[in-house]
Amino acid sequence: MARILVVEDNALNIKLFCDLLAAHGHETEAVTDSRDAIDAARAFRPDLVITDIQLPHVSGLELMGLLRNDPDLKAVPIMAVTAYSAQGDDERIRAAGAQAYVSKPISVAKFAATVDELLAASACEPERKAGAAADAETPIEAGQDIAPGGGIDPEPSFG
Ligand code: MN
Repeated sequence: MARILVVEDNALNIKLFCDLLAAHGHETEAVTDSRDAIDAARAFRPDLVITDIQLPHVSGLELMGLLRNDPDLKAVPIMAVTAYSAQGDDERIRAAGAQAYVSKPISVAKFAATVDELLAASACEPERKAGAAADAETPIEAGQDIAPGGGIDPEPSFG
């Protein structure tokens, strides 16, 4: 399960992407106005950003530049989605900061496989791995709070 921020101005595509990601067990947040994307990313702390390229106000390429120049967000992998795939687009999109891109209309299988690849790749990077290890320690084991000397006071002093 990962947290995925979707930046896309088309409501039908947002529904398609978010339904698909949710079906794969991911938690999603959608932004329709790319001017809100950086603030949303800071608040949501996504494991992956999926951005449309053809966006009003701040284009997908500009947004990727903003993400790459943000100290808190530069490590987050980016998957671009583009309606037009002309010659040279691959280089242009990757140069802007995307690790991968898929063309619209999307192939559901390709979309899901690309998301999985990017999440797996970022999990292998030391910085991200350290974060994942820290997260893994967070869940409370079953029975922990009834173990002897477990640190839970059976008679709270505030009663
Ligand atoms: Mn668009």
